[in-house]
Amino acid sequence: MNEFEYNDIQNWKDQYPLLNKLILMEEVFWLNPKLEKSQTAIKKLPFTEEAVDDAEERLKRFASYIARVFPETKKMNGIIESPLVDISSMKKSLNQKYQQPILGELLLKCDNHLPISGSIKARGGIYEILKHAETLALQHKLLTLQDDYSILDSDSFRRFFSNYSIAVGSTGNLGLSIGIISAKLGFNVTVHMSADAKQWKKELLRSKNVQVIEYEADYSKAVEEGRIQADKDPACYFVDDENSEDLFLGYAVAASRLKKQLEALEITVDEDHPLFVYLPCGVGGGPGGVAFGLKRLYQDHVHCFFAEPTHSPCMLLGLMTGLHDKISVQDVGIDNVTDADGLAVGRPSGFVGKVIEPLLTGNYTVSDEHLYMLLKELVDTEGIYLEPSALAGMIGPAKLYNEGLDYLEKHHLTGKMSKSTHIVWGTGGSMVPEEVMREYYQKGSKFTLEK
Ligand SMILES: *Cc1c(COP(=O)(O)O)cnc(C)c1O
Repeated sequence: MNEFEYNDIQNWKDQYPLLNKLILMEEVFWLNPKLEKSQTAIKKLPFTEEAVDDAEERLKRFASYIARVFPETKKMNGIIESPLVDISSMKKSLNQKYQQPILGELLLKCDNHLPISGSIKARGGIYEILKHAETLALQHKLLTLQDDYSILDSDSFRRFFSNYSIAVGSTGNLGLSIGIISAKLGFNVTVHMSADAKQWKKELLRSKNVQVIEYEADYSKAVEEGRIQADKDPACYFVDDENSEDLFLGYAVAASRLKKQLEALEITVDEDHPLFVYLPCGVGGGPGGVAFGLKRLYQDHVHCFFAEPTHSPCMLLGLMTGLHDKISVQDVGIDNVTDADGLAVGRPSGFVGKVIEPLLTGNYTVSDEHLYMLLKELVDTEGIYLEPSALAGMIGPAKLYNEGLDYLEKHHLTGKMSKSTHIVWGTGGSMVPEEVMREYYQKGSKFTLEK
């Protein structure tokens, strides 16, 4: 898409010295110079705040349907949500290994246990398809907003939806989410998978009647092909991971749910009790939506970080240079090859980059070795199994204490850290087959955790 000259890259390196380390694929920690007061930032956004409430209401309308067709959601009455758990044993281990005490509580948001597709994509992905299904059914006067949506679980509705198709490009987890919910409703669904997508994810989808098309190329290519195919067919709806507001809003609903969970744990978030959230980032929609939702509820009392693999730091590159989706990691010689398949994205969402620019505290990168070590450590200390991508947040608190002290000073947080809360967003893992997880764990045993 772009042809950058050698000179462009040299100029950026002069302007943004951290870029040198980024290009060498070393771990970096970056504080966002464009962070604004959240009140001013939120007013500039391209959608109304009410849009998040609207998304939450829509998910409530669908709850009876979800509870009926996905029995594992019954005990939550059809609301797709994950637990928030204390991981103090992991905290102890991190304190030792990094020789850097984490002040405050350390919690894990277990999106690995989200029902239906076992990753954060069960938020945005499922939401977008439900919204599309609702729109079609309302247009054709088959449904009203007052109906009990469990009526969608019927042959007549499945026949109706089978006149329509859905397409999406994915590194794996979005495909799982979109594929499973679309097939359940009765849509014809095609998932365009990038080369990084794991074999078991493709097999799982095929077993559920989802058409899977595989590419040798990376995520951006899979998305592009999906978009081309969908454009040819007026009955085909394309889930555009790089630009979708619906996905973003589906993710944003997580914030009000998290707020209730924090209240239930009697954890305060206010001026004197800061909240830090560490979110693994691929194209940006998942972490962006969650961060936006949280800023809306907690304003300047919440501090959000994105975490990316050293080999795929697309959002950081876009934010640092201000070029957003006009630049890819490959443009500066970074290979976008990582075992963190959920984060293997070379070009960020331009839409999310611009939305998040005034809201994000910072961004850091993590090596694959580090992800594996943290994976093993979390199993050993807490018995929790995450996929490699989902560990990217875990090193955030240590990085903050080692490299973010200026930020803490500047925002008058230094003296408040013992009353702070750190939430690591565990974005996926429960669907990983046991033998694959065993391999991950063994890889983690090969490395020792050090600074
Ligand atoms: C997709 C994904 C992310 C990041 O979400 P994006 O919307 O791509 O930024 C993080 N972790 C896992 C496990 C994922 O599948």
